[in-house]
Amino acid sequence: MAIATTNPVTGEVLERFDELTPEELEDKLARAAAAAASYRLTSVEERAGWLQHAAERLEKEIESVSRMITAEMGKTFRAAEEEVVKCVRGLRFYAAEAPALLRDLDSDAGRVGAKQTFVTYQPIGVVLAVMPWNLPLWQAMRFAAPALTAGNVGLLKHASNVPQCALYLEELFRDAGFPDDVFQTLLISSGRVEQVLRDPRVAAATLTGSEPAGRSVATIAGNEIKKVVLELGGSDPFIVMPSTNLERATDVAVKARCLNNGQSCINGKRFFVHQDIADAFIEMFVAKMGALVVGDPMDEGTDVGPLATESGRRDVESYVDDAVAKGATVLLGGERPEGPGWFYPPTVLTGITPEMRMYHEEVFGPVAQVWTVASLEEALREANGHPYGLGSNLWSEDEAEHELFVRDVQSGMAFINGNTTSYPEIPFGGVKRSGYGRELSDLGMREFMNAKTVWIG
Ligand code: NAP
Repeated sequence: MAIATTNPVTGEVLERFDELTPEELEDKLARAAAAAASYRLTSVEERAGWLQHAAERLEKEIESVSRMITAEMGKTFRAAEEEVVKCVRGLRFYAAEAPALLRDLDSDAGRVGAKQTFVTYQPIGVVLAVMPWNLPLWQAMRFAAPALTAGNVGLLKHASNVPQCALYLEELFRDAGFPDDVFQTLLISSGRVEQVLRDPRVAAATLTGSEPAGRSVATIAGNEIKKVVLELGGSDPFIVMPSTNLERATDVAVKARCLNNGQSCINGKRFFVHQDIADAFIEMFVAKMGALVVGDPMDEGTDVGPLATESGRRDVESYVDDAVAKGATVLLGGERPEGPGWFYPPTVLTGITPEMRMYHEEVFGPVAQVWTVASLEEALREANGHPYGLGSNLWSEDEAEHELFVRDVQSGMAFINGNTTSYPEIPFGGVKRSGYGRELSDLGMREFMNAKTVWIG
């Protein structure tokens, strides 16, 4: 895939970018290694100050950065603004909490025959981040803010369709005062990730993206015995029980499925609705999905913009066509509109069966699957039948159902009566084929730190 900004509204290539030459890549790796040697010695207070400066600058540039995001990947300007605000919040969280997050952990020296024992958390060095285009600023920030707080050095290989966002991040951290080369963007194709990951100057990697990309990076990292965090696909269940407020649950269901033009790993994708309320849910959900305005993402009135890439739209179409050919019922949408751009309408399907590809895989676009179930147990059985286990959602006022859901749902995150989202304060990540490791909070920061045990006799 060429490295370029292409307008998803028109399909027009707006700007092309040259890939790094082998010499330029070598230079960046050497610089990253040199930066890691000195950056690890900076104080927590200095790092917190630079994070704070980055937050201040980003806050001043919300409008222009949001425009850039929308231009590169087609999410609505409103959604882009929310993403940038979230990044500011992430930077401020790590700036404020850095001293507490990096404190040594004491343990009981007497029990291990020492005068003193403690665990000190130290940076591991240069970390490669391979990131996707769908939240082009936030996904990378979710890596960068904790990594830089920890004293690590970042190398960002961003998706090929968001080079401007990638270069902006390098500039943001440099201008905030971080020492030279502490955060660098590598404009390289995915085929060159292996070379970077195998380089002895690179200590670890994190990848957010698809299962095939994750498998490739995990294989190489495993071969090199390097730590890796994987945030991969999701087909999150959204379970609705009779005790809930249907008006609110359907409002959030629409948001859950169509946020980011339906291209988020934690979008609710499979809706399991109790049979007692299924007819009412479906009627309200289809009406609200059908009322969404699809159009130019820069227009204030638009709810759903185009998909980010032409191939992405082709994938969504082929999932829907496959399901329909095998007997699924289309309650809404299901056909691409005429005209330029990579638009795909909000779509609602029922009658999904195991013969259909979407039953086992992930549809990265505004396509909802609705299932009618007789009980929470049945909903959980179906939900857990999927190979992914990223987020999950329950709508219920019944505490016994909350407990059952938390105990039995196979996911890294269980949200009840609120949409699944990420916050800097709490860990984010999945189980099963959604990946392993966590991002955000203290857990995310410590994924790339050496928990060094110190014993002093
Ligand atoms: P993708 O094709 O896997 O791309 C993601 C990143 O990986 C890009 O930088 C891409 O570079 C690179 N890449 C692709 N193949 C690679 C390979 N074999 N080796 C090394 N790097 C490789 O994913 P996508 O289609 O852009 O993004 C959508 C997927 O990401 C969905 O499955 C979604 O659920 C998942 N996602 C997960 C999370 C989470 O937190 N769990 C968050 C967001 C998205 P190029 O662009 O140059 O190909």
